[in-house]
Amino acid sequence: MNLSIKQKLKEIVGEENFTDDLIELVPYAYDASDHDHRPEAVVWPTHKEQVSQILFLANAHRFPVTPRGAGTGLSGGAVPVQGGLMMDLSKMNRILDMRIADRQAIVEPGVVYADLENALTPHGFFFPPDPSSSSVCTLGGNVATNAGGIRGAKYGTTRDYVLGLEVVLPEGQLIRTGSNCIKSASGLDLTRLFVGSEGTLGVITEITLKISPKPFAIKTASASFSNLGDAGQSVIEIIRSGIIPSALELLDENTIRVLRDQGKMDLPQVTAMILAETDGYTDGEASFQMDKVIEVLKRNHATDIRIARSTQEAEDLWKIRKSIGSIAAQLRTHNVSEDVTVPISKIIDLMTGISNIVHHYGLPFVIFGHAGDGNLHPRIMYDRSNPEQVEGLRKAVEEIFKLTCQLGGTLSGEHGIGLAKAPYLPLEHDSMNLNLMRAIKKLFDPNHILNPGKMNL
Ligand SMILES: Cc1cc2nc3c(=O)[nH]c(=O)nc-3n(C[C@H](O)[C@H](O)[C@H](O)COP(=O)(O)OP(=O)(O)OC[C@H]3O[C@@H](n4cnc5c(N)ncnc54)[C@H](O)[C@@H]3O)c2cc1C
Repeated sequence: MNLSIKQKLKEIVGEENFTDDLIELVPYAYDASDHDHRPEAVVWPTHKEQVSQILFLANAHRFPVTPRGAGTGLSGGAVPVQGGLMMDLSKMNRILDMRIADRQAIVEPGVVYADLENALTPHGFFFPPDPSSSSVCTLGGNVATNAGGIRGAKYGTTRDYVLGLEVVLPEGQLIRTGSNCIKSASGLDLTRLFVGSEGTLGVITEITLKISPKPFAIKTASASFSNLGDAGQSVIEIIRSGIIPSALELLDENTIRVLRDQGKMDLPQVTAMILAETDGYTDGEASFQMDKVIEVLKRNHATDIRIARSTQEAEDLWKIRKSIGSIAAQLRTHNVSEDVTVPISKIIDLMTGISNIVHHYGLPFVIFGHAGDGNLHPRIMYDRSNPEQVEGLRKAVEEIFKLTCQLGGTLSGEHGIGLAKAPYLPLEHDSMNLNLMRAIKKLFDPNHILNPGKMNL
């Protein structure tokens, strides 16, 4: 990127919204994944017209552009692996409209998830996906990665809530997709194509989200198991019983041990734990579902069943789940967190298989995740300065992906493919599918300037 290009970028966004200062570039080399690469410059556009002019310029001079929200992605999607320009959308952060009667919120991409949540709460509405990074991640990033969260089993992921988008295509043209209606059966679904496209097909500049009335009655419980199979059978029977809990989380033996030993939490010495939450618009509705859940847990030999009797007790139970990442990360200097997903009935096969694989390579690990939608988060800790551990990690991750695909699963339930999983995409998609994906990329981005090097495109 030469001086004249940098000058043009300054003219587009203003001096104050451009930098090529090394000290400011360094943090933009990273997201929350294990990958890094420094960009040559960063811009903070404040209007869609600027986004369009920048992409027009990038095409004319063939430099790469990487869109970024808050950089909390776990698969390297926002790492500018081929250098070039980082486009930080965090200054486009206005909630443009909330049309409660239409069940819609219209936002710019840089709005932080929690800010929308706070704006919707007084209206009794919410945007359900709720990723654990909600206090910092942006809605643009959520749409681009199809983010999910612990409520996925009942409420789905971001994709289920995007009604329409405004997108600047890689060559600079601005388009609108979808409609302002709760439903539409009109034409090919371009909106869904952009959701989960990880900034490879266009830069999202406006999002029309479907919002939902918030169920205020919530029941929370935890249960322990001395046998992993009993925990797995409970998950299957809960879903079969017709109850879809708003959260159904599973913790493996290692997770419980680490929380007890490292985190000093008061947890029993057991093989597995389940955390369950039911919700409804009345207390009776949430309690009716929780009673059914407890019935199933008891039938499957659960011990130490704790039912929260207050909001504080519920928060204490959720603290167990929410602390895992930060406590486990203390075990080594580096860690990777995967988000492999299988049909719900295969969750125990996946958990057992992952345990065996990682155990073989002698690395510390924990496995936990959203059992209610078949999504597990194995987190493997390692020391990057130790080549044996680095190689062990690489092999373990590859074997985990192979196992997941053998079980009929998918490499990513919510974090996306980015850089981290790009080499493994052929395990899940055959060459016809991959070629179609690449043809679509070429159609949208003939000069391959937008977020190159991602998703094996
Ligand atoms: C502690 C922690 C907990 C997490 N928990 C969860 C979880 O529960 N569920 C979950 O799904 N994820 C989770 N994540 C991962 C991450 O928060 C999500 O993937 C989130 O959606 C990323 O948002 P972001 O704004 O940080 O995007 P970034 O990381 O900045 O970008 C992610 C991808 O989106 C693209 N992108 C960003 N903005 C745009 C735009 N406007 N137009 C086009 N492309 C764009 C980028 O190019 C990149 O490919 C977690 C991460 C951390 C660190």
